[in-house]
Amino acid sequence: MASKLTGTVALVTGASSGIGAATARELAGQGAAVALVARRKDRLEDLADDIAKAGGTALAVEADITDRARAEAAVQRTVEHFGRLDTLVNNAGLMLLGPVVGADAEDWDRMIAVNVQGLLHTTHAALPHLLKAAEEGPRRVADIVNISSIAGRVAWNGYGVYNLTKFGVNGFTESLRQEVTRRHVRVGVLEPGGVDTELGSHNGPEVRDAMIDPFYETTEVLAPEDIADGVAYMVTRPRHASVGELWIMPTDQA
Ligand code: NDP
Repeated sequence: MASKLTGTVALVTGASSGIGAATARELAGQGAAVALVARRKDRLEDLADDIAKAGGTALAVEADITDRARAEAAVQRTVEHFGRLDTLVNNAGLMLLGPVVGADAEDWDRMIAVNVQGLLHTTHAALPHLLKAAEEGPRRVADIVNISSIAGRVAWNGYGVYNLTKFGVNGFTESLRQEVTRRHVRVGVLEPGGVDTELGSHNGPEVRDAMIDPFYETTEVLAPEDIADGVAYMVTRPRHASVGELWIMPTDQA
């Protein structure tokens, strides 16, 4: 029996770990051919092998999406290899926390480069293919899912520039939704609360001790698969139904 995404092609950024890896597995399990995009090629190749062993189809595409040319090349490689693109999951992200006062401004640049500029690069390159899929493809609909955060809904002390990037993603997503929804490209945000991934590990020990470890030690957080499930829900709605926003929290997180 054909699965819901059979015949479609998805590109997932940040597929080398956490939410992106789980999402790639889930979409492949539902029948999509999946392009796995991130910088750590060995991880992508291992995941592509796992997906193939499970009967799916995946392609490892090494790319730093903060570089516009490389992000565009990743989209082109996907379309050249699989012949089309139906689904873009903009998931790659970086969260470096801490006070604004005395911050290392390079941390801000790195976050903005991945969370905002990287997302813009892949979206811009993918849109012509998504519009074509929506017009000519068998499903006559295409999808962009942007992985934002609860930090795109609520601001907290110490989250300043991460909040800035995720609030920005939410605003951009809704604007783009209005631009292309009547052409049947659905655009939505998924906003997770705490998920068990590598996201916090890029912070220094001071931030981890004060802001990250205490939360994870006292909260039953989500698994990456919980978010993958949400992405799959968004991209498998009937053509006339578009999920603009999905907010998934650990039950244990107030
Ligand atoms: P991870 O750190 O496990 O994954 C982040 C992914 O982004 C990695 O695959 C990494 O791959 C990729 N990435 C980082 N920089 C680049 C780059 N320049 N080019 C290409 N890929 C890049 O964290 P999560 O899975 O948690 O994060 C996924 C998304 O979920 C992020 O947008 C995050 O903000 C969001 N989120 C996470 C929450 C959580 O609690 N974990 C909560 C709310 C939102 P590589 O290093 O190989 O390039």
